[in-house]
Amino acid sequence: LDIANAPQNGAGETSALAEKHLVQPWPVAGSIGAEARGAIESGDGIYVVDGEGRRLIDGPAGMWCVNVGHRRAELAEVLHDQAMALSYNSPWYTTNQPSAALAERLAAHAPGDLSHVFYTTGGSSAVETALRFMQFLNNVRGRPEKKLIVSRQGGYHGSTYLSASLNGRPRDHDWMDSATDQVAKLACPNPFRRPAGQSEAEFCDRLVEEFRALIEERGPERIGAFIAEPIMASGGVIVPPEGYLRRMRTLCSEHDILFIADEVVTAFGRLGEVFASKAVFGLEPDMITFAKGVTSGYFPLGGVMISSRLLESLRQSNHSDAMFAHGLTYSSHPIGCAVALRNLDILEDGLLDHVKAISGYFQKRLKSLESLPLVGEVRGMGLMACIECVADRVSNNPLTLDLEVGKRIDRHCQELGLLVRPLINMCVMSPPLTISTAQIGDMVAILDASIRRAMDELVREGLWKG
Ligand code: PLP
Repeated sequence: LDIANAPQNGAGETSALAEKHLVQPWPVAGSIGAEARGAIESGDGIYVVDGEGRRLIDGPAGMWCVNVGHRRAELAEVLHDQAMALSYNSPWYTTNQPSAALAERLAAHAPGDLSHVFYTTGGSSAVETALRFMQFLNNVRGRPEKKLIVSRQGGYHGSTYLSASLNGRPRDHDWMDSATDQVAKLACPNPFRRPAGQSEAEFCDRLVEEFRALIEERGPERIGAFIAEPIMASGGVIVPPEGYLRRMRTLCSEHDILFIADEVVTAFGRLGEVFASKAVFGLEPDMITFAKGVTSGYFPLGGVMISSRLLESLRQSNHSDAMFAHGLTYSSHPIGCAVALRNLDILEDGLLDHVKAISGYFQKRLKSLESLPLVGEVRGMGLMACIECVADRVSNNPLTLDLEVGKRIDRHCQELGLLVRPLINMCVMSPPLTISTAQIGDMVAILDASIRRAMDELVREGLWKG
């Protein structure tokens, strides 16, 4: 297939039908149920083709998920072959080979004693599972008051009720209910936004101190879990200060608070490792949630790695009849697990090494965009990065700037051949892991030209002094 000339039939019809009948994710009231989002027609490698036939670099790899790239024949074959062998079995009372084989391989990659996995249908259900497991554990252990969940401002953990209650990005809760009585939020560990005059080390001390104070205030006997993305992804690729995660882990261990690492984005190669917690951050969590890259988006699958120590403590409890009343029809789905096994082969067969080899170049080239006056900071790690725009570089203030500046940059990028995931004043880059140095060069050149265009526009419209 020559994807540059891929057929575009029906793109207009797709959008029209969507506008008439689809309720899209994250809509605003003014256009809910009546919104036409641009069609994507096909994909190949790091590229997708949109409804107008334009070939675009898939900057966000879908939603941080198409890690091995689009149109992998070996994954398509597995989807077909597994569907023909066994398309589904009930995990309530049977088991299938791919889920067991995958569990063994995931356990071999997971840190510490995280030797078991509970499969879900995606990231939200993985986080929800981890939280319900913590609640169940503490109920069985006879301490039903130890349930409070601690998350952070800027974090994102999902769209089910309890997982969404943990979210801390702007606008996440403006119009939505949440379980406020079950959640406490700490400050965002964003070094770029630390108080003026504070060193990064001092900033880190303050963050750890804040957690210590919260534990003291609420009482360790009331706090069940701390949940953190090792690098906050959709909050803007926030890389925490050195040592922060390990120190938060220590506090958790001291007070018997479970540390849940939400690796929905950071696992499966994004940082060059299958799981990043230990390998990149020196961290051994009690649970790790994952999704997205586990199947590179070819099938909806997620899961929670769970410490064998916790499972053993349940088996040894004096409530052997206590039921963990939690399970999904599609837990341990044979097709999802078969795809994940093949996806893991691809990662282990050179792709993780490729990420390790190319990440430095990726970060260095993107960092060069900091020479543009609209760019306040380019930050990131591995193959994830964020370009944050600011109105002026002294105050780093994004608020006086047109807050939709990310969307402007995205529009110009799309004209030039790059799909961006704009987040207010930020552009997030997390391309398929197969990206080459030449393709990174193309990506950065398009970003550079598009930011320049956006700067000209903002000055012309009187929104920015330049
Ligand atoms: N956790 C993190 C860190 C995420 O980035 C996401 C999705 O973006 C989720 C959880 C929720 O995953 P899903 O959308 O698959 O339910």
